[in-house]
Amino acid sequence: MRKNIVAGNWKMNTTVPEGVELAKAVVAKSTEVPADVKLIIATPYTHLCPVAEVVKGSAVSLSAENCADKEKGAYTGEVAANMLVSAGCEYTILGHSERRQYYGETDAKLVEKTRLALANGLKVILCVGENLEEREAGKHFDVCKTQTESVLYQFTAEDMKNIVIAYEPVWAIGTGKTATAEQAEEIHAFIRKVVADKFGAGVADDMTILYGGSCKPSNAKELFAQPDIDGGLIGGAALKADDFIQIALSF
Ligand code: PEP
Repeated sequence: MRKNIVAGNWKMNTTVPEGVELAKAVVAKSTEVPADVKLIIATPYTHLCPVAEVVKGSAVSLSAENCADKEKGAYTGEVAANMLVSAGCEYTILGHSERRQYYGETDAKLVEKTRLALANGLKVILCVGENLEEREAGKHFDVCKTQTESVLYQFTAEDMKNIVIAYEPVWAIGTGKTATAEQAEEIHAFIRKVVADKFGAGVADDMTILYGGSCKPSNAKELFAQPDIDGGLIGGAALKADDFIQIALSF
């Protein structure tokens, strides 16, 4: 079944003690959020173990922001999917535009990462989205279609139960420039159709598709009211527990 999800992506922010305090504040306020809204926090690797202790027994799930495209071995600096599970993660974000842009993450790599994440029992939040140049050239549908198909079409309908898509127009990430609710809904409905074309209407209808890109308390309600927007992947506003919870109260 489709879920309402609000996931915070902390990116490369906070020291470990600051992150633990932020997680504690999110957990404390999470009791205000209705049970049908799933809360996830994605933290830097260094924070996962202590934050796992903080969220244990609460309604907040833990996510990584990335994982390796290799199972184990001589890959200095990488962190494997089974390590994330052993650190307490339930989810990992994959294919965030910052990883695609700055770290050369390709769709082929994302297939491997997704395969390993799923095989180790992680759920995946797969990010797709066009950059400004692509939007201005009217290529946003094509870009989202290619990114979605290239990864998801390598998996089964059963796998789709453990994958969440996040549509994040790159031009809206960290810029304060949110896609309008209409712009976001149009792409969300389109992505759902791309999923339906391969896996059928039932799987597509059950797919959770999040919006990400300068989502904040002041615009979350309008975005989440759209029929194909099932919540948000939140960057900047996830660094303040009050704002993050306010967003989760916007369904
Ligand atoms: C993100 O990076 O996933 C994101 C949505 O960032 P922001 O909310 O800061 O735009």
